Amino acid sequence: VKSIAVLTSGGDSQGMNAALRAVVRSALYNGLDVYGVQRGYQGLINDDLFKMDLRSVGDIIQRGGTILQTARCKEFMTPEGQQRGADVLRARGIDGLVVIGGDGSYQGANKLSKLGIKTMGLPGTIDNDIPFTDFTIGFDTAVSIVVDAINKIRDTMSSHERSSVVEVMGRHCGDIALYAGLASGAETIIVPEVPIDMAEVSERMESNFAKGKRHSIVVVAEGAGRGEDVAREITKGCGLEPRVTVLGHIQRGGTPTAIDRILASRLGDFAVHQLMAGESGKACGIIRGELVTTDIDTVVHSKKPFNMEMYNLALRLSQ
Ligand code: ATP
Repeated sequence: VKSIAVLTSGGDSQGMNAALRAVVRSALYNGLDVYGVQRGYQGLINDDLFKMDLRSVGDIIQRGGTILQTARCKEFMTPEGQQRGADVLRARGIDGLVVIGGDGSYQGANKLSKLGIKTMGLPGTIDNDIPFTDFTIGFDTAVSIVVDAINKIRDTMSSHERSSVVEVMGRHCGDIALYAGLASGAETIIVPEVPIDMAEVSERMESNFAKGKRHSIVVVAEGAGRGEDVAREITKGCGLEPRVTVLGHIQRGGTPTAIDRILASRLGDFAVHQLMAGESGKACGIIRGELVTTDIDTVVHSKKPFNMEMYNLALRLSQ
């Protein structure tokens, strides 16, 4: 491999820039040419590539979003679009591609790899929904933002309202709700992975209040339902009238935490080394501190296991 390209795709996440910086600097350090692709697979199809140097990624390690921009590209879902993407890279003499993105972006990378382009996937999403890595780039920052928001909600809640429902992101994955719920002492965590009986939730809230609890937080993962609906069920069940906060896109913004920057830096460098070693069609991850690769094909056909132990711990500690 002499020349590689890098793109960010799907929803952006904090730390994508840090990953990009690591890919570019590591490639240059090892004597490779490196190209940035603008706007994900759309830019690839449009041949919207530019050569990057050490300074192209200066002053971005601390920035949220992605300087390469990202896009959702329908055309790339078709075999013709994928072929066009591979042709663009070949015409430029680029033999490796690093894709930073979520599940959908991995599917795209998988297709390109089958067309003979050496591809590496880096898990860039706040959702933590990618298997074969403990954490995705952006997850830690998103969780910190949710915890910070819940701290603020708690302050005002203990003075006025007594219960609150907070809806968080994560698509089909409950990890943001789980981790933020545990870290903020939420009384109930509602996630798509665990069926929940709303009558039981209401009962628990009622009896906790009777036991002298002054406030109660319910965290709902967007994949499990809407905050408003959960609040309505609680009112129906026990008469409490929780306030609803939908945190939305603030969870995807802001400066990445040190943990996300370190994760991104290690993974970015690792991806470049894997390409140099001739690997292709792999997803990079860190499991129990160790850098690992897994076939992208396996990753896109697997589901991230849910941490039931942590879920039960959160329940036990929040009585
Ligand atoms: P996030 O989970 O953070 O939203 P994502 O990578 O899952 O990120 P998607 O919109 O699902 O976001 O995917 C990004 C892009 O990847 C799509 O717009 C499309 O161009 C490409 N893509 C998605 N699925 C496929 C597929 N099955 N085959 C080829 N390309 C795909």
